[in-house]
Amino acid sequence: MSVISIPKVNGDRLVQKLATLAQIGKLPNGGVRRISYTPEDLLARQLVCEWMSEAGMTVSIDAAGNIIGTYAGARSAAALATGSHIDTVPTGGRYDGALGVLAGVEVVQTLRDNNITLNHPVKVIVFTDEEGGMIGSKAMAGRTVSDPEYYRRDDGTPIQSCLERIGGDWSALITAKRTSADLAAYVELHVEQGGILEASGKQIGIVEGIVSMNRAAIAITGRSNHAGTTPMHLRQDALVVAAHIVLAVERLAKETPGQQVATIGILNVSPNAANIVPGRVDMVLDIRDLSQDHVDQLVKQLQDILNRIAVQTKTDIQLTSTLRVEPTLATPLIQDTIAGVCQTLGLSYCRLPSRAGHDAQEIGRFTNMGMIFVPSYGGVSHTEDEYTSPEQCIHGANVLLRTLTRLDAVL
Ligand SMILES: [Zn+2]
Repeated sequence: MSVISIPKVNGDRLVQKLATLAQIGKLPNGGVRRISYTPEDLLARQLVCEWMSEAGMTVSIDAAGNIIGTYAGARSAAALATGSHIDTVPTGGRYDGALGVLAGVEVVQTLRDNNITLNHPVKVIVFTDEEGGMIGSKAMAGRTVSDPEYYRRDDGTPIQSCLERIGGDWSALITAKRTSADLAAYVELHVEQGGILEASGKQIGIVEGIVSMNRAAIAITGRSNHAGTTPMHLRQDALVVAAHIVLAVERLAKETPGQQVATIGILNVSPNAANIVPGRVDMVLDIRDLSQDHVDQLVKQLQDILNRIAVQTKTDIQLTSTLRVEPTLATPLIQDTIAGVCQTLGLSYCRLPSRAGHDAQEIGRFTNMGMIFVPSYGGVSHTEDEYTSPEQCIHGANVLLRTLTRLDAVL
């Protein structure tokens, strides 16, 4: 179909749906608490299923509890998919996840209102429990952990009962697995959850990929001793060493060319008493970048620095990797398609990495993937005052609509 015939989404209808969904689990200060498998989540899922039906989709639920709305295509080809999640963190906002799902529903409804059928079927997916471990998108990628204990909820509820509540089936989880023969591409619209777009005054972010996530435990062993009687030159103070390491990590991340970020977010001091020189510190390093090689290189450099500090301070420093999630790069064709759409619509844009995890990182492991970001006011998310203006949400939905229709023509 020709590009000129692509309509715009019904912005008011999208904004109205965002407001209605935000009523389910709403918090006093404008935020939302809608944790997976809770009554609020169930209610929200029910509502989205109804909206999908209204928009002309057939709705099914897979073994992982993912809701899949399908809008039939002219050919029975692999589908073009979009979506996100509607669960939230305990004090979350109304846009994280919800925007991607409701924009997907709006895109399909716009197609139907205008009697447009694409070549590919269009699927809008609500992924199960994004905030709690991404079991939904991981199941589609065939990457869930096989031990159900891993997914037991904090309140003790086993994952089997959780999935049953939402129409899933733990024992059949393998059937939720999809391949590129099922989904030809996945494009997710999401709020940025950071401040890059706002700071640069851009309307749309084109995600280059979702960064790798690497964590390492750093254990420093010095010697505990009396804080009064131990002279300064005889100390092996693990906390002082930790301070040097925190600064070294910051310097490494700041001064190495690239877009890497590194954080020491946990520090446990032992024995943690006012009158004892700290003998041991355990801390956790979190380091992220689009290139795993680059991260590995930085960790190697840090290891050299730690070895030097250990010798200088007569302490023992051990670095042990505890988590390594490889990055997922966005498909160049989809990035370029989004850029072309922004030009057509007269929207300013920039390319940027996503430093937060998303369902797209799992789906992108088996098929073409892209993500569209819209600005987050003040760069904040996972808080009650998360905000993206109606205009920005609508821009995002229009970019999503056109991106899918262009991909329909080339894939
Ligand atoms: Zn999200």
